[in-house]
Amino acid sequence: MQSIPGETLAIDRKARVNMPFYDLDLRPAHIRACDFDEVVINFSVERAMFEASRCIHCPDPAPCMLACPTHNDIPSAMWLIEQGNFSEAANLYHKTSSLPQICGRVCPHEQLCQGSCVLNKSHTPVLTGQLETFAVEYHRRHKGLDIPLAAPTGKRVAVIGSGPAGLGCAEQLLQRGHEVTIFESKPAPGGLLVYGIPNFKLPKEVWFQTWEQFQRAGVRFIPNTYIGKDKTIDDLFNEGFEAVFIGVGSLVDAKMEQTLGTDLPGVYEATDFLIRGNVDPSLLPPEMRQPLKVGKRAAVIGGGDTASDCLRTALRLGAEEVTCLYRRTETEMPGGYKDRSMAREERAKYRFLTQPIQFIAGEDGNLAAVECIEMTLGEPDAKGRRKPVPVEGSNFIVECETAVLALGYWPDPIIGETTPDLATHDWGLITACGTTGATSRKGVFSGGDCVTGPDLVVTAMVAGRKAAWTIDEYLR
Ligand SMILES: Cc1cc2nc3c(=O)[nH]c(=O)nc-3n(C[C@H](O)[C@H](O)[C@H](O)COP(=O)(O)OP(=O)(O)OC[C@H]3O[C@@H](n4cnc5c(N)ncnc54)[C@H](O)[C@@H]3O)c2cc1C
Ligand code: SF4
Repeated sequence: MQSIPGETLAIDRKARVNMPFYDLDLRPAHIRACDFDEVVINFSVERAMFEASRCIHCPDPAPCMLACPTHNDIPSAMWLIEQGNFSEAANLYHKTSSLPQICGRVCPHEQLCQGSCVLNKSHTPVLTGQLETFAVEYHRRHKGLDIPLAAPTGKRVAVIGSGPAGLGCAEQLLQRGHEVTIFESKPAPGGLLVYGIPNFKLPKEVWFQTWEQFQRAGVRFIPNTYIGKDKTIDDLFNEGFEAVFIGVGSLVDAKMEQTLGTDLPGVYEATDFLIRGNVDPSLLPPEMRQPLKVGKRAAVIGGGDTASDCLRTALRLGAEEVTCLYRRTETEMPGGYKDRSMAREERAKYRFLTQPIQFIAGEDGNLAAVECIEMTLGEPDAKGRRKPVPVEGSNFIVECETAVLALGYWPDPIIGETTPDLATHDWGLITACGTTGATSRKGVFSGGDCVTGPDLVVTAMVAGRKAAWTIDEYLR
């Protein structure tokens, strides 16, 4: 429900539809491609108030609210921002989201809130994501941020994984007075917010400011602890935890099986490449602290957002020529248009209908080239996507010293394998109810990428929040 019903506002909707649209301010491509600083320039107060005043306040429920996975009360926030009540707007976002300062930056807005804005029909949408970032940042700078806490219940919950799912769950449990301990296999908290999404989309300081909120709220964090190897879920129950939430993501890089040369020096998996390229070595496990060696020419294989992130990271690490090799056409690419267009502005090139068939070493034993074959699109597969088929005799060489495999992600089956009675499916995804997060094992709940497969920050966070509500009922 909208807290400020649009019908009650005396506004001239026609005049609002005709207001001019100014797109996001981005740092110039030739400058931003040389550093890892944030690409989008945050709104000024005046710019934010103007942009929010373009909202025509649709009747409740507004399409943007319905399209937002966490159902932020966007129209009411737009009204408050327009009136200069930035902190009140921020409080609205904090009611429905555990990570608004992050979602405002990294959500694929054009597919969610902005994509459903009715102004798309005749004009251009309100930049709702950027306004969310503005309001929440303004509030944090001027008033600070704290998770509101309830009286302690004395109940202890273990959260496995500190990505958006684990954080969404932890934040809601803390608000209900439960004691939360997060077990994390990596040295620092954040999941893909730290060890995946590049700094030019989500600066690390935004994450660390967010994490300080969790620390002030009393969350316990146990790093470098791999559940399934260092201890099991049964061990956690034996230690006195009364419920467990699993939010371990889907983090195993897909391999290019049956392709020669993927083990050559110079060929990287996307996760390794992005982590070592974007994360301070002090936050890395010792085996990942070696600096990356990026050649003048880099090829990235894959068509998702991770591929765009790798292209843009390679450019920032000094590669002069960066090319994405994708086996279908641009129409079939799973990655979003926004990231691709920013990558293009920064000089990344795309080569479609191209399948690598082997990675070739130079005389020094390092990667020197990728042999590729041209593809054509054949009959649709079971999912309706036309299957890429090799064009016989069309082999060609792409010279490069660095190649990054950004082919997608699989779940890690270890939790399923080490937890009796926990149902899993499809190579290790955890079977859990999408509404409650309940699994086949009593007291064990789950959500995020380890249940759905790779998805989004906001959807993982929502799954964690919903599971926390069920855990709260279960504990009481
Ligand atoms: C390169 C990249 C860029 C992306 N960019 C975007 C974007 O711009 N916008 C967007 O919305 N989404 C993006 N995503 C997707 C988004 O990051 C994920 O959907 C989201 O982080 C999933 O959250 P999660 O909590 O389920 O898992 P994760 O964020 O993966 O967190 C899982 C955590 O569990 C830990 N863990 C794993 N196994 C264990 C274990 N056995 N014991 C203890 N800890 C364990 C991991 O170390 C990790 O910290 C991107 C993904 C990638 C890979
Ligand atoms: S959480 Fe994401 S989809 Fe929802 S309003 Fe914010 S940016 Fe839009």
